[in-house]
Amino acid sequence: MRGRLDGRAAVVTGAGRGIGRAIAQRLAADGARVAALDLNFADAEATVAGMEDSAIHLALACDVSDSASVSEAVAEAHESFGSLDIAVANAGIGRAPGDGSDEFYAAMARKAGDPSTHVDQLIHMRDEGWRGVLSVNLDGAFFLFRETVRVMAAEGSGGSLIAISSTSAQSGEGSPHYCASKAAVIGLTRQLARELAPRGIRVNVVAPGPTDTPVMAGIPPEWIASMEAAVPLGRMARPEEVAAAVVWLASDESSYVTGSVLVANGGSYFF
Ligand code: NAP
Repeated sequence: MRGRLDGRAAVVTGAGRGIGRAIAQRLAADGARVAALDLNFADAEATVAGMEDSAIHLALACDVSDSASVSEAVAEAHESFGSLDIAVANAGIGRAPGDGSDEFYAAMARKAGDPSTHVDQLIHMRDEGWRGVLSVNLDGAFFLFRETVRVMAAEGSGGSLIAISSTSAQSGEGSPHYCASKAAVIGLTRQLARELAPRGIRVNVVAPGPTDTPVMAGIPPEWIASMEAAVPLGRMARPEEVAAAVVWLASDESSYVTGSVLVANGGSYFF
């Protein structure tokens, strides 16, 4: 017996790198058997390889925007572990082809020389760009929770569902589809918290602020510096700090907490 999640089984989406990898590895370190799901199977495998007793865990290829793919992955995790107690909807993207990002970044660059430049994204966003982000960030959480709850409801043993939102859900800083998707995930978890409470299934959100993951690699250093300057704690989060919040919500230590948003953003915005 190693930890507070001994005997539990968990699924984590987007677990191939960044925050999802930290969550999967921390859940495993605390005793859970973990299915690490990612679009990129090799990355999911690398996450599992980094766990002690890696043979008891599972790496699975899964596209969260595809309900059949999520259904298959959850079924495989359930079959392998014999139960499911924890589901973390972490997979998320900030941009998609046709979403006006290119025009947005070009306008940002022009604005440095000409402050009157309008920095637009909405008017350049095509339907597929909007759907691309919503399909991963919102549909992905819905598909994961639906499939997991079908298992949990059949077993009658309760559980803990956690969605990774963002400070952008409240602050509005970010792009239209990203902010909308992250706010929608909060609405979804609040409804589910009410609906699923009688089944002993708790549903919560962790809302990180800027976090030092591979997704930050493409951002110019001066933007990172100004982002960090806006955080009262003076730096980005480490993925492990977000994972610690998730593990608390997954564990019995948060047994009376449901429908909540745990904000891990260094004080950059108060919900
Ligand atoms: P990341 O480094 O880009 O990692 C995201 C992971 O999700 C990648 O492994 C990616 O796989 C995977 N993924 C993308 N689309 C997927 C899909 N359709 N199905 C399954 N997996 C998919 O991102 P992160 O920074 O760790 O962010 C994780 C979560 O935290 C996201 O929901 C994000 O919105 C949220 N968040 C992040 C920050 C931040 O500053 N980093 C702040 C607030 C909230 P591929 O590598 O194959 O694309």
